[in-house]
Amino acid sequence: MPTRGDRHLRSVRLAKQLAALGARLKTIHLVTGIPPRQVQRLFFPDARTIPRGRAPDSAEWYHGANLIMRIDACIIGAKYHQLRDLGLSAGEALVFADRAYQAATLPPYRISLDRAFNLVSYIDGIWLARAPALSILTCPDCGCEFIAAVGTIAHPGQACPFCKLLERFHLDHRIQASYPVRPAIDMTECQLGMLALFHKLSPGTEGDTPA
Ligand SMILES: [Zn+2]
Repeated sequence: MPTRGDRHLRSVRLAKQLAALGARLKTIHLVTGIPPRQVQRLFFPDARTIPRGRAPDSAEWYHGANLIMRIDACIIGAKYHQLRDLGLSAGEALVFADRAYQAATLPPYRISLDRAFNLVSYIDGIWLARAPALSILTCPDCGCEFIAAVGTIAHPGQACPFCKLLERFHLDHRIQASYPVRPAIDMTECQLGMLALFHKLSPGTEGDTPA
């Protein structure tokens, strides 16, 4: 049985990981329960390094985002969902999902940690959200996992973001060469393959981090 000390150490470790990923004080506070002033004292001795600016506070941005941003969001959302199913805490799953996303793409990262935090809040109905507003669905056409408004049912032929990606480039021979038809493909592997391809084809799309 973990002691109070164990739980405190775990929170501090998580706070450190979030700070390293560029989280705002408020985000770190909401995930770990550590007061913002203490987070600042521990991890931002130089106040000039504190991440600033307004964080997204609703899930609406996802529906209005361009295809590349939505695909990036799907990578994070699906990974988070997978890790939660494996029994990780929400905070740990957020950190690992964000790291997996950063490992799969090149800086500047289009989705900031705070935006990922917003996203998973609305997937699980925690932190910023009172109830789930987004859910993870598996596309019946391409097999990739994607994010949709809660209550949405995935119908064949409706084109998830990954299907749209394929549609957009379906005449491109490089894509055809990159996608051998593989049954029982791992969902996240499928997404990561599409993502890598997409970044290769569309460099320099704007996101949260200024280029
Ligand atoms: Zn699809």
